[in-house]
Amino acid sequence: MKEEHKDFSKVPWHGIPRKDIEWYPRIIEESCIGCGLCYLSCGRDVYDFDFKNKKPLVARPFNCMVGCNTCSMICTQDAIEFPSLGWLRNIIKKNKITGRAKKKIKEIEQGKSEL
Ligand code: SF4
Ligand code: SF4
Repeated sequence: MKEEHKDFSKVPWHGIPRKDIEWYPRIIEESCIGCGLCYLSCGRDVYDFDFKNKKPLVARPFNCMVGCNTCSMICTQDAIEFPSLGWLRNIIKKNKITGRAKKKIKEIEQGKSEL
C-alpha cells in the first residue's frame, strides 16, 4: 500500500512561499549513529528512515516548520544542522514578518481574522 505523507510545502510562512525559505535539517552522516530519535520525534513528517542502513533521510525538507530545530536539540550526537539564527532573523527583517505578525494579531483581536 502506498504510504500517505503530509505536505506542508505549499503552506506559506507569514505570506512567504515556503519553498523560498531554505530552512530544514541537514544530517551530518559521519556523526549520526542511526538511533532514529529525529525520525520518531518530528511531527511534520520531514524524515523517512532507511531501515537497512539505519539512517534518517530528510525526505520532505519543506515540511519543516520555519524556526523549529527540535530534532537538532534532541540529537545527542549533534548530527543535525540548521541555518544560523542570524540568517533566519535576516529573513524575518527583510520580509517585515514582525509587522505582518502585529497586523495579524490586531485582526484576530478585532474578530476580522482567525489563527
Ligand atoms: S537523532 Fe541524531 S543520531 Fe539519531 S538518527 Fe537522528 S541524526 Fe542520527
Ligand atoms: S526542526 Fe522540527 S519540524 Fe523540522 S524536521 Fe526537526 S522536528 Fe521536524
